[in-house]
Amino acid sequence: NPVVAIVGRPNVGKSTIFNRIAGERISIVEDTPGVTRDRIYTHSEWLGQKFSLIDTGGIEMGTEPFLTQIKEQAEIAIDEADVIVLIVSVREGVTEADEKVAQILYQTDKPVIVAVNKVDNPELRADIYDFYSLGFGDPIPISGVHGIGIGDLLEKVCQSFPKEKHLELDQSIKFSLIGRPNVGKSSLVNAILGQNRVIVSKIEGTTRDAIDTPFKTENGECFTVIDTAGIRKKGKVYENTEKYSVLRALRAIDRSDVVLVVLDAETGIREQDKKVAGYAHEAGRGIIILVNKWDLIKKDNYTLVEFEKLIRQEFQYLDYAPVVFVSAKTKQRLSQLPELIKQVSINQQQRIKSSVLNDVLLDAIGRNPTPTENGKRLRIYYGTQVAVKPPTFVIFVNDPDLMHFSYERYLQNQLREAFDFTGTPLHLIKRRRN
Ligand code: GDP
Repeated sequence: NPVVAIVGRPNVGKSTIFNRIAGERISIVEDTPGVTRDRIYTHSEWLGQKFSLIDTGGIEMGTEPFLTQIKEQAEIAIDEADVIVLIVSVREGVTEADEKVAQILYQTDKPVIVAVNKVDNPELRADIYDFYSLGFGDPIPISGVHGIGIGDLLEKVCQSFPKEKHLELDQSIKFSLIGRPNVGKSSLVNAILGQNRVIVSKIEGTTRDAIDTPFKTENGECFTVIDTAGIRKKGKVYENTEKYSVLRALRAIDRSDVVLVVLDAETGIREQDKKVAGYAHEAGRGIIILVNKWDLIKKDNYTLVEFEKLIRQEFQYLDYAPVVFVSAKTKQRLSQLPELIKQVSINQQQRIKSSVLNDVLLDAIGRNPTPTENGKRLRIYYGTQVAVKPPTFVIFVNDPDLMHFSYERYLQNQLREAFDFTGTPLHLIKRRRN
């Protein structure tokens, strides 16, 4: 999806506008339970055009002076976004801080759209012309609070999205490595690339794609490793902020078919690892868990089994993800990774014929009868697969409330026994049918 970033000095109403744009989408109830996201990144849609939205104002830079902060936020927007929306306020007119932000934005040739906020009534519309002086063309009057002009803004945003996408990158299997700092993500990327043939990309200039690296295995299989926080550092201050790393991880997950969640064998599992893994799970991507630095562990016959047991305990919702014990240093098991990534990607895109699916469901119900509540029994009429990536099934039932968590779990396990869904979450949607 194209990415839109909102920038601007404090108090112009960035987060109000972010929530306005995000709002429509958020009201759609999502099926997956999960981690609450820091609300600086969301998905949205305008007349069928999907995009991702970043509120750079939510990325706090600790004790940095405020002018430095807004400059850095503008730099993040330049790095991350396809289209930048600069929010200003009609009440104060053009301020020095607005001009500072604009100066940073002159450095990019990405489209910048000026939205003049707080135009709450028609009389104020005459005042928006001052903002031509910022040099980004027609300013668009909006009111975040009243929801005025948001449609016009989004229309202009969508018209500004880049048209072409890169075929070469699009046909390869995309994966990313995520994890907290120092677990060895960049060492692993380098080691994996070292074992394969890096494809020198013809694509230049698109900052965001250029740091992704396509490569080919000996078997001629094409992959692209997606850049994440902490992999190729540029030495910018904001790279060390927690929210920025979260943002980068979310972006990388979004763009990946398969996510490798990297743990550090030496330091063990930390709270932050669970958060990171939760994002990948919530996004419905294929997941493989890598335990890196395995070379540092003194082993006996049980070490590996014990460690895997611990992972299963700590990451119960990831029971579908294969675990691989690796070392970036000794290259242990790294040559197996491309094949496994490919398999998980295939599993994610598997389509099960309805007839076969319903045989499995019938069989499952036969072996373990559906639950009852207050004398009413859950009836399962029919199931059908409605999506891939991840495989998503709609199950038609007499009453969705009768489908208890444990029974849903049982059905998922039966599907996993019947088909190879290693590495991919499954989504079950219950629909009432009378
Ligand atoms: P990142 O922040 O996740 O990208 O982590 P780095 O790749 O920068 O690695 C952090 C530190 O761990 C560096 O000092 C690496 O040399 C070290 N390291 C990474 N992988 C391994 C490994 O498999 N074995 C050992 N012994 N050290 C490793």
